Amino acid sequence: MSGDEAINEYESFLVDLLELAMAQGIFEQHQLTHNEQVLEVPAIITCLLTIYTELQQVYPDLIDIPLCVDLCLNWLLNVYDRDRSGKVQVLSMKIGLLSFSKGHLEEKYEYLFTQVASSAGVCNPKQLALLLHTTIQIPYELGEAAAFGGSNVEPSVHSCFQHVGHKDTVDLEQFVEWMHLEPQSMVWLPVLHRLAAAETSKHKAKCNICKECPMVGFRYRSLKHFNYDVCQRCFFTGRTTRSHKLTYPMVEYCTPTTSGEDVRDFTKVLKNKFRSKKYFTKHPRLGYLPVQTIDLDMNEEYTYSQMSLQSLQRTPCVQQDSGQEGSGTHQTDDFSGGSDKLEPCHCICLTTQ
Ligand SMILES: [Zn+2]
Repeated sequence: MSGDEAINEYESFLVDLLELAMAQGIFEQHQLTHNEQVLEVPAIITCLLTIYTELQQVYPDLIDIPLCVDLCLNWLLNVYDRDRSGKVQVLSMKIGLLSFSKGHLEEKYEYLFTQVASSAGVCNPKQLALLLHTTIQIPYELGEAAAFGGSNVEPSVHSCFQHVGHKDTVDLEQFVEWMHLEPQSMVWLPVLHRLAAAETSKHKAKCNICKECPMVGFRYRSLKHFNYDVCQRCFFTGRTTRSHKLTYPMVEYCTPTTSGEDVRDFTKVLKNKFRSKKYFTKHPRLGYLPVQTIDLDMNEEYTYSQMSLQSLQRTPCVQQDSGQEGSGTHQTDDFSGGSDKLEPCHCICLTTQ
């Protein structure tokens, strides 16, 4: 299959219509309880048939069952069975489908965590590594693993356990807390959510550069200038006005969604934005916790974590233009006072709920 065909399949398998709880129910119905169990293609198809049959009852106009099953199967095999042995582990299938299902991000983290947690509801490093490894196969399949710190998950596992003070296990709450820092290996998942939400989000504000109103997509608001908003198009293309420099810190807004319906079309997003790397090349790649640098500067990283959790806004500030992604220095200042020393940085605080 050529690259283009591979991209096209994301347009139509529509698993983002599937509610997390419905997915979980179908897994149980098919007795997919042993994660290490290996499923052969016919068993995968049986499960996908149930999924799309149920979805078709809700979305009769959208779902073409045989086509969706075929595309989804193909996608699962691309991600989890690159040698085409015709087998996929139960855990892989669940994580692949849950990652793309419909629901709020936090709820999604919970479902993902639960797949690998012990009956006591906690994960040891090995279980967490399994979860991260299985999840990162998704961007890996898109050839994007490098942007997320490579396919080695050990630094991420270390980062998570460092976050909880090197205990033996992490519980769900701690895992979600850590995920809110957007660790590098997992940042693609919240980014997908934000992008998908931004696709349809409208802001009652006018772009100070091109005058578009309302603005659609991300809205960027200056932290230096009062009442200065920039639309996503002007921001991505680097348009400025005389009074506003691109190096000034901006806040990125995407309207919090009220229903999963708004966060649709991950598949479209994958093709249009994520796959084309626009977001990660044109957009400052800052909203994440760079897991690789943790060993280098523990104290600073720790302060950063504390601050992010306190404020409910993530306010990472990574030195830009250093050309060394993930290895720059991290300042922990917040934006109050608009200190000049922040100027070389391009800051974003992400206000997704
Ligand atoms: Zn504009």
